[in-house]
Amino acid sequence: MKRVRTIKGDIDPAELGFTYTHEHLICFPPPIVMNEDADFELPHVDKAVEELRIFYEAGGRCLVEGTAIDYGRDVHALLEISRQTPVHIVFTTGFNKGRFHPDWVVQASVEALRDLMIREIEEGVDGTGARPGVLKAGAWYNVITDREEKVLRAVGQAHVATGAPVWLHTEAGTMALEQLDILEQEGVDLTRVAVGHCDRNADLWLHKEIARRGAYVGYDGPGKIKYYPDSVRVELIKGMLDAGYGDQLLISGDMGRRSYLTSYGGGPGFGYILKKFIPRLLAEGLSRDDVDRIWVENPARWLAF
Ligand SMILES: [Zn+2]
Repeated sequence: MKRVRTIKGDIDPAELGFTYTHEHLICFPPPIVMNEDADFELPHVDKAVEELRIFYEAGGRCLVEGTAIDYGRDVHALLEISRQTPVHIVFTTGFNKGRFHPDWVVQASVEALRDLMIREIEEGVDGTGARPGVLKAGAWYNVITDREEKVLRAVGQAHVATGAPVWLHTEAGTMALEQLDILEQEGVDLTRVAVGHCDRNADLWLHKEIARRGAYVGYDGPGKIKYYPDSVRVELIKGMLDAGYGDQLLISGDMGRRSYLTSYGGGPGFGYILKKFIPRLLAEGLSRDDVDRIWVENPARWLAF
């Protein structure tokens, strides 16, 4: 039977409940990020626990922690957080866009990266026994660099070996179809793949094309008004539902900055989608069933392997 791999162990997908499919609880980004903007560092267990309390009290039950190995993933901290929250946490193995890859990733072969990810999924990370439940790769703005293609192929091969779901970083929503092409060459069933940050490129035709290929379309910008108003996201969601792709939408907040999180004194925080965005979607014509599909049924189907 298919199970969802949480940090505490495998569970029945029916147990998941309301799920955010791309968030960050703890990360220690590489120097290239920190030298530009330390806002991206999320170092505090207690603040993550507080943010999860807000999420849980609003109805949240499961969260996918999207921090990859090369973005300062901290499994010990995630385990500590998981002991202090009732929220199911699924964490990630794999890598980001190439500018975050450390030298050892740049030097490694496809096979070495594949084997590392398979070992983490099957045996656990850093001797903790905690096993990741999602594979991650990504590409750059309008380009897939050689090192990114290598990681994509390694992730594809690790998926074929384990069945674990795949999440793809797109830079401003570009190079989605091209990343799917590479995974497909590695034999990946695209119905097991989620393409992240699609709404950064608010192009409904492209989103329908990603869905037509079988993949999930990930929106993770609700509340990020600096890019454009949420009205644009509401129209994209309605457009996907009208096109019959409601079973392939995954919507989360990607609150990967201190300034986004209530517990650090910022906003909109983990409460936003549950307390403000979903009520707005319902007021603008979505049904309760649509909401359950997007935040309960689709995540459970994507995550189970
Ligand atoms: Zn993220």
